[in-house]
Amino acid sequence: MFWLSKGENLQLKDKVALITGSARGIGREIALTFAKEGASVVICDINTELANQTQKEFKAMGFDVLSFGVDVTKFEQVEEMLNKILDKFKRIDILVNNAGIARDNLILRLSEADWDAVLNVNLKGTFNCTKAVSRVMLKQKSGNIINIASIIGMIGNPGQANYAASKAGIIALTKSVAREFASRGIRCNAVAPGYIQTEMTAKLSPDVTEKLLNQIPLGKLGSPADVAGVCLFLASSESSYITGQTIVVDGGMAM
Ligand code: NAP
Repeated sequence: MFWLSKGENLQLKDKVALITGSARGIGREIALTFAKEGASVVICDINTELANQTQKEFKAMGFDVLSFGVDVTKFEQVEEMLNKILDKFKRIDILVNNAGIARDNLILRLSEADWDAVLNVNLKGTFNCTKAVSRVMLKQKSGNIINIASIIGMIGNPGQANYAASKAGIIALTKSVAREFASRGIRCNAVAPGYIQTEMTAKLSPDVTEKLLNQIPLGKLGSPADVAGVCLFLASSESSYITGQTIVVDGGMAM
């Protein structure tokens, strides 16, 4: 593989990185970007079949990755996965909390089930994985946690109260984790994407997409690679003096 020829220049050489929700979309792109930079990558997704398929695709590209079918809302499943990661690698260096869902509706029509589902996956899932890896990172006295938030967690959106609240919660959680663990060599930052071309946004009608494009100064939706590049920066030593921050990747939409 051409990127492996960069040898010593690989930014994540010898790092073990767990990316949640990485069977597809933004998470998959982050996993691939990290693998290309030399990380040992762990794919984790609620969709076991797709996670295994993604693992096969990565193997075909020359990357030996682990894959797990895990629901991040279930702490015991996360712990079980982490123990297997530790059996193989003995350490965990990077966690990207990317798994996320949306269940949109206006407040008067928003069901308790949809409120709970979104808060559970997006916010509690982030807490569960952070709690599990922090035990190991605190012992290592090093670690790097990256949380995928959203600009909706900063500016809100009609029909997305549950999603916005979960993502605002992630931004606050990021700052607390950063403050709690900074003295132990662990950094924690968030990335807040705007509208990125994935299956999540493919469901938007052409009308809505057109309206969105008019609000984006750079005039286009973002790509998963735009988000993955910022995650790589945060995961690498290039950002070693940055913690507790939320970096917006939105083509200028929310400024
Ligand atoms: P996506 O294509 O839907 O991918 C998310 C992945 O997470 C899916 O494979 C999904 O599996 C998995 N997942 C869902 N619930 C899970 C759980 N309980 N445990 C483990 N994995 C779970 O979404 P995406 O667009 O790549 O978004 C990735 C992240 O970026 C999310 O946190 C999202 O909120 C955030 N984000 C996206 C955009 C955007 O424009 N796309 C903008 C801002 C922020 P299933 O398919 O089986 O549910």
